[in-house]
Amino acid sequence: MLLNESIAAIATAPGRGGVAIVRISGKNALEIAKKMFTPSLKNAAFEPYRMYPGQIDAGTFCDYGLAVYYKAPNSYTGEDVVEFHCHGGETIARGILKRAFALGARSATRGEFTKRAFLNGKLSLASAEGIADMINGESEAEVKAGYLLYNEKLTSGVKALQEKLTELLAGVDASIDYPEEDIEEQHIEELKADLLALRKKLGVWLASYGTGKKIKSGVTVAICGKPNTGKSSLLNRLLGYDKAIVSSTAGTTRDAVEGTIEIGGVKFNLYDTAGVRNASDEIEKIGIDRAQTIVKAADVAVFVADSSSKFEEEDSRVLQMLQGKPIVKIFNKIDLTKDDTDSDADVLTSAVTGEGIEKLKSLLFEKSVGERGEDAAFLIEERHFNALTRADESLARAVLACETEPLDLIGIDVKQAWDELGEITGETANERIIDEIFAKFCVGK
Ligand code: GDP
Repeated sequence: MLLNESIAAIATAPGRGGVAIVRISGKNALEIAKKMFTPSLKNAAFEPYRMYPGQIDAGTFCDYGLAVYYKAPNSYTGEDVVEFHCHGGETIARGILKRAFALGARSATRGEFTKRAFLNGKLSLASAEGIADMINGESEAEVKAGYLLYNEKLTSGVKALQEKLTELLAGVDASIDYPEEDIEEQHIEELKADLLALRKKLGVWLASYGTGKKIKSGVTVAICGKPNTGKSSLLNRLLGYDKAIVSSTAGTTRDAVEGTIEIGGVKFNLYDTAGVRNASDEIEKIGIDRAQTIVKAADVAVFVADSSSKFEEEDSRVLQMLQGKPIVKIFNKIDLTKDDTDSDADVLTSAVTGEGIEKLKSLLFEKSVGERGEDAAFLIEERHFNALTRADESLARAVLACETEPLDLIGIDVKQAWDELGEITGETANERIIDEIFAKFCVGK
C-alpha cells in the first residue's frame, strides 16, 4: 500500500541558494535519516522538533548542515518526517536525496507530501488547494485568499452546512419510520423553511465568486479611446516603465499590449486597445476587432479623452462601445489645458506629469473589486463554485419536491446536496479529482 513506503524529495526550488531542504516522510524516515546523519554533539538523542547540527553523509561526499525530526502524527504529512537542511547547491541536495533513495525511500510524486497529509486527515481537500493558491499566488490578495482557504475557512462553513443537512436527514428518517399524515405535512413545511435558509447561506458564498475570480485571475482593464488621446502613455505611467510603444502618429497602437500592476494587493491586467475609428487599413481593422474582444472580456474599462481638444463624434463612438461596462472616464493631457476643464470626467489626468494617476488607480479598484472586509472569505476556486452550485441545485429540487413529493423522495435531494458539499472537503471526492488537484503541486510539496 502506498502509505507504507517512505518518500523523499528536495523541498526547495531548483537552482542555487543559501540552503536546500531534503525531506523524507514515512515509516522508515527516521531509520533512513539516522543512517546518513551524525550529530555534532556526541550521543545526542535525535529528539523530535529540535534542530541538530551535524554531518550529512551523501555516500560519495558529505555536507555539514542541520537535521530535524517531526514525529508522527504531529508532522506535515501526519507520518514521521525528517528534513535535512544542507548547503543550497543542486548537486549537494541531489546527492543527499540519492542517498535517501539508496537507503529505501522512493521519489515523491507531485504534491505527494500534501496528498499524504490529506489522506491522513491533517487537512481538507480545500485546505490543500489553499496551499497551492498561496504558492502560486502572484498578488498579495491571492496569497491572503489562499491562506483563508488553507486555514479551513471554507471547509468549516461547508461543514456547518453539512451538519444542518445531516440533522434534517435524521428528521426525515424518523418521520418515515413513524408516518402520520398531518405530522408529515407539518414536517415538510418546516423542512422547506430550513432548506430555503440553507440556500440563502449558499447564495452568499456563490455571490462571492465574482470577487474571488478577480482576485485569482486578476481584474481585466481595457484602456479605450480614440487615437492619440494618450492611452499608451497612460499605460506606461501605470506600469511605471515603457512597455507600450508611444507614437504621435494616430492609429499606430495596432495591438493590445498587456501589462500587470497591483492595486490594493489585487492584480490588474491592463490592455491598451487600438483607437476605434473607421479604419480603411486592414491591419488596423484587425486591431479594432481585437479591441472589441478585449472590451467584451474586460471587468472595467478606462475611457480616455483628450482634454486639450474638442470632444468629437469619435469619442462618443468609443463611449458607446463601452455601454454596460463599469467605466472610469478620464480626461487626459490636463497639463496642456489652462483653464479648469468643464467635463463630466471621473478624473483629470496627465500621463506626462502623473497628475490624477493615483486617483485613477483607486477608482479602478473601487469599480471592479469594491469594498471587501479584510477577512471576508470568498470562493476563489472554480471547482468549489461548481460544487456549491450543484449543492444549491439539489436543494432547489428538494424545495420544489416539498410541494408534491413525500418525505423520502425529498430526502434523496437533500442527501445529494450533502454529497456535493463533500467534494469540497474531500469526503466524497473521487480519486480522479484528488489526483488532478495534487498534480498541480510541485514535487517536494
Ligand atoms: P494613444 O494613441 O491614445 O495610445 O496615444 P499615445 O499614448 O501614443 O500619445 C499620443 C501623443 O500624446 C504622444 O505624443 C504623447 O507623448 C502625447 N501625450 C500623451 N499623454 C499626454 C499628456 O498627458 N500630456 C501631454 N502633454 N501629452 C501627452
